[in-house]
Amino acid sequence: MFFDTHCHLDFAVFDQDRERLLKQAAEMGIVKCVVPGVSLQRFPNLLTLRDQFPDQIQIALGLHPCFIHEHPANAVEMLADQLNSATVCALGEMGLDGRPGMASEAVQQMLLEAQLKMARDRDLPVILHVVKAHEVMLRLLKRYALPRGGVVHAYSGSQEQAKHYAKLGFKLGFGGAITYARAHKQHRMVRELPLEWMVLETDAPDMPLEGYHDQPNSPLQVVKVAERIAELRQQSVQCIAEQTLQNAMDLFCIDQLS
Ligand SMILES: [Zn+2]
Repeated sequence: MFFDTHCHLDFAVFDQDRERLLKQAAEMGIVKCVVPGVSLQRFPNLLTLRDQFPDQIQIALGLHPCFIHEHPANAVEMLADQLNSATVCALGEMGLDGRPGMASEAVQQMLLEAQLKMARDRDLPVILHVVKAHEVMLRLLKRYALPRGGVVHAYSGSQEQAKHYAKLGFKLGFGGAITYARAHKQHRMVRELPLEWMVLETDAPDMPLEGYHDQPNSPLQVVKVAERIAELRQQSVQCIAEQTLQNAMDLFCIDQLS
């Protein structure tokens, strides 16, 4: 059984074949997908998706740093309002993106800190998007000391930083990036880090696997991610699937698979 801890199945690119995809996912043993929110405008779709597929889909709500142009001035208050009525398995996705062209660090950090505080107060894990900002993120996580930790999705930090995340109760999400022949740093990390720290993800429709650049990525590819990790670690796919499933269930406090 496989668990895709990060895919954006609510995005319009899946409108035509979402149902078929989820049916096929179930047949392939992909028992759960976590779909994180990125902006308030998109939350209604997310809630509908969860209601349509309650056994397969868990959702999170959050304000993504790359969608700042979509967040109104009172976005944080509106998110808090939503959380009073919606059942979520985590807060996110939220984070810091240090690439050029993104909103200023100060603006991103303000939005992130408001959500970290919310996660701490509501005892929820967080789903983090961290690009070129791991040191700042680690500093903030130490300060907020989240009781439930969370996951650093599409992990791109160093092995040393991975240890710090793990100490703070975080799992590391691995997906399409590890399938690239030239991703040597990622390969070494997947080989050497404890499997207990890892969860699987696809980030569909983004982050296509090697050889699949001509189509949107899909949650079905989580099986190939597990196969690649198994190959790198010289362990069985079943072993990788079982442990990462357990990690994800612990992280999101899911005690039963339906
Ligand atoms: Zn994402």
